Amino acid sequence: TMNCELIAVGTEILLGDILNTNARYMSLELAKIGVNVRYHSVVGDNPDRMRELISQALSRSDIVITCGGLGPTPDDLTKEICAECLGLELYLDEKALEQITAYYKRSGRTMPENNEKQAYMPRGAKVFYNENGTAPGCAVSANGKIIINLPGPPRELCPMFEKYVIPMLVTKGDGIFVSHNVGIIGVGESKVALMLSDLFEGVNPTAAPYAKTGECRIRVTGVGDSADEADRVCKPVIEEIRRRVGEDVYGVDEADIESVVVRLLSEQGKTIACAESCTGGLLAKRITDISGASTVFGYSIVSYANDIKRDRLGVSALTLERFGAVSEQTAAEMAQRARINGAADIGVSTTGIAGPTGGSEEKPVGLCYIGVSDSEKTEVVKVLSGLDKGECREANRVLFSTRALDLVRRRLEER
Ligand code: ATP
Ligand code: MG
Repeated sequence: TMNCELIAVGTEILLGDILNTNARYMSLELAKIGVNVRYHSVVGDNPDRMRELISQALSRSDIVITCGGLGPTPDDLTKEICAECLGLELYLDEKALEQITAYYKRSGRTMPENNEKQAYMPRGAKVFYNENGTAPGCAVSANGKIIINLPGPPRELCPMFEKYVIPMLVTKGDGIFVSHNVGIIGVGESKVALMLSDLFEGVNPTAAPYAKTGECRIRVTGVGDSADEADRVCKPVIEEIRRRVGEDVYGVDEADIESVVVRLLSEQGKTIACAESCTGGLLAKRITDISGASTVFGYSIVSYANDIKRDRLGVSALTLERFGAVSEQTAAEMAQRARINGAADIGVSTTGIAGPTGGSEEKPVGLCYIGVSDSEKTEVVKVLSGLDKGECREANRVLFSTRALDLVRRRLEER
């Protein structure tokens, strides 16, 4: 099998001005097609060090992919030095020149003369014409090695990588890898690990857990000769996870719980309204993050202070006095009032203590009551996040809003 390494070119990366996100992106994509990435390195815009690194890379790897340094300025040297290392001359690629000229025309400018430099390609190269910028990329092979040069800006690199590089390398890997993510909310990671421990020992597919705030995901990865086959390998394990974990699985390959909630609401022709205390608008923010939310969401109130809970939202003074703002009873009334005030089918509420201050023995940091109300019933769930130290505030708010969205999901799936 072939080994690959990635070289990012740019002094900006060495200085820490920008983060090498291209390496992460390419590594993720290459893993999917079973290409082994053995090294990541970064070199500044310095010809000697670049030459040294590229020679070293060619001595230990079969495929070397560079990004950056394809621009029009004299310090953009990647292509020139790679060609030199392979002993190849550059020629003016007419089609590349046309594309660069056309790119400038489209954006209403004339091409500066030095951009012509970008149209020089190593002899024998497969040219990757750039639809999102000026610098074309290319691939050359010599002495059994492949060098691929890609532009630095991610919005140019990513589409080029997908369109040219993946198809070119797909036959060089150990098979096609397909991953699926099973999303779980409501049981902790360690309990999930106990329930699924035997599945985590599988080889094809592999299954592995990773925790996010408020949820746990299981990534199932299969390998086969085709994507279909890799997919088929994953299926039984995904089913088995669903069978064991049950309704705590909120979806497979879902971006997040808010997308699931917005989709379910819209499928069922229902609307939602929120009354938030400790999440301070995060619930509404997460719902409106989803495109199309306007058909299912129209009202939310951040009722942080008690008198707002009472006077604006309509929670009874007696309830607040007798049970306190952070209580089952207040959460229930908040959810009901959100539903009624917002003329919605479902109301959801949060009231809790995000911390790090404000907790007590009886009502500790990390406690939240979440209410969900529709015309049939109002339910309240008590959540104890266990996050009560240091910078727990943001994590608690994310966790509370995740659990609130998940309770809505469960209510919508009840029927
Ligand atoms: P240009 O024609 O824009 O100069 P280039 O191929 O010469 O393209 P660079 O000059 O190295 O690329 O980088 C241009 C910009 O692309 C950088 O300022 C940065 O924003 C982004 N970029 C470059 N390399 C990376 C990387 N490894 N990861 C993420 N972003 C990058
Ligand atoms: Mg540049």
